[in-house]
Amino acid sequence: MTDLRPDFLRVSESLHPATLKPIWGDCLVCGDRGTGKHYGIVACEGCKGFFKRSVRKNLHYRCQGNGACPVDKVHRNRCQRCRLNKCLTMGMKKEGKTKPVESRAGDGDFRISLPSVWVT
Ligand SMILES: [Zn+2]
Ligand SMILES: [Zn+2]
Repeated sequence: MTDLRPDFLRVSESLHPATLKPIWGDCLVCGDRGTGKHYGIVACEGCKGFFKRSVRKNLHYRCQGNGACPVDKVHRNRCQRCRLNKCLTMGMKKEGKTKPVESRAGDGDFRISLPSVWVT
């Protein structure tokens, strides 16, 4: 028997809801669940917020250890210095504050978002 269904039906069938959501890897800084690309790398909400705060307020932290504190899900709040260090080491950038595609201005002004050239 031949499949008489129109093409678009067959296509929509293969679109599982799960595949519609982008799946991000683990946070490169602490290993928690990444929620997207933040400041250039995949990071979790915690590290994103931490990095944002640190950069905005231009904070300088001090390491109580030898500068090699563990930065993971459990220990990430122990040493901010090492956490920030790891953020930078993993490729987080202070620049590029350009808002991501999320601009749902709601003013009816529909703009095509430019390709994110700066995400390499
Ligand atoms: Zn993280
Ligand atoms: Zn430290």
